[in-house]
Amino acid sequence: MNSPLLFTDLDGSLLDHDTYSHKAASPTLAILKSLAVPVIPTTSKTLAELLPIRAALNNTDPFIVENGAAIYIPVGYFEQQPDKTTLCIKEGLEFWEYSQAPTRAHWQQLLSKVSEQFGDQFSGKYINFQNLGTQGIADLTGLPLTQAALANQRGFSEPIHWLGNDAEKKQFIAALESIGALESIGAHIVEGGRFLHLIDAHACKGAAMQRLTSSFKANGKHNNYICIAAGDSHNDISMLEAADIAAVIRSPVHSSPILKREENNYISEHFGPDGWNEVIAKILKTEF
Ligand SMILES: [Mg+2]
Repeated sequence: MNSPLLFTDLDGSLLDHDTYSHKAASPTLAILKSLAVPVIPTTSKTLAELLPIRAALNNTDPFIVENGAAIYIPVGYFEQQPDKTTLCIKEGLEFWEYSQAPTRAHWQQLLSKVSEQFGDQFSGKYINFQNLGTQGIADLTGLPLTQAALANQRGFSEPIHWLGNDAEKKQFIAALESIGALESIGAHIVEGGRFLHLIDAHACKGAAMQRLTSSFKANGKHNNYICIAAGDSHNDISMLEAADIAAVIRSPVHSSPILKREENNYISEHFGPDGWNEVIAKILKTEF
């Protein structure tokens, strides 16, 4: 029997862009719970940021953080420990962690190398999260201090606030590539161009979704799984393209991602969690 797995982006999709509330999605979340459909948060947020959100959602399913860089499966969720995972204990909770992405320290070292090899060419042109510190992150993002501290607890990526112009930014990315990160670096711009995220190019949401789906196939209760992916922006495209069913959530602040696929695509009428509620309910009714 085919059983659905729902991989969902948070900000602007399940959570409201401004208030971070999931209230409008509550009716469909309740239906998913009654059908025992796993709801798998798939987000650019860190593990530390996700834990309180997961608690607020009353969610006990696996999840994917830092744009696909790591997967966490609660210990006991499957009968056996999934392949290639290690134990991670955070805030008293036990997870099987899967990641093949380089650690945050790797990206920080790469930045030091740029300074060594290119001298002052890029100094003053950017500031990374490590150097911003919690107060700096709070000032720049508008996050409260406690949340800025959680955003700074990163495992696998290092956001950079770019201060130079676009031409200088291109030179900087070329410099990073020239010092040996050519294949592994996927420096892409998120959040309206505010940050460059240094993250492994292969560690996208889509790849993590496929990896976790294989774990369900190997260890889950059902014979087969159908992936539904829900997201509102550019960094959701990899999972929206790779899923069996794509649910694009309309955004009040930017245009919707354009998909190459032509079948089993849904797009919400409403924005954010209202749209999520409407389109996921429709998919459940139509496809299952
Ligand atoms: Mg989003």
